[in-house]
Amino acid sequence: MSEPPTDPIAGSPAEKAARAERALQWLNTHWAGPRQCPICATQAWTILDFVEMRPFTGGGLLIGGPLYVMVPVMCNNCKYTWQFNAVAAGVLEAPAQAQPQTSDSDEPKSPE
Ligand SMILES: [Zn+2]
Repeated sequence: MSEPPTDPIAGSPAEKAARAERALQWLNTHWAGPRQCPICATQAWTILDFVEMRPFTGGGLLIGGPLYVMVPVMCNNCKYTWQFNAVAAGVLEAPAQAQPQTSDSDEPKSPE
């Protein structure tokens, strides 16, 4: 039986599982109040795959701007979803900053 393919961005299934486990540990140590869904009042949650959020720029896409990695937590019953910041919570290391675009040398070539 073959391993599931590794997602080049999100990592291997084992890496995803390790992140989800760290998120669960964070939740278990920080979620002090009742774990009741504010919408349907059940108490069953699932940690989804981490997602990225970018600041709103009025419709454009800001390349190289800040990026927030969030941990979505979804109610198993009504699907209400809330999230917390994975990096600020220490669940994930900060992603590498986007590298500025560099171009190859523009030096003119000597004519033959
Ligand atoms: Zn709910």
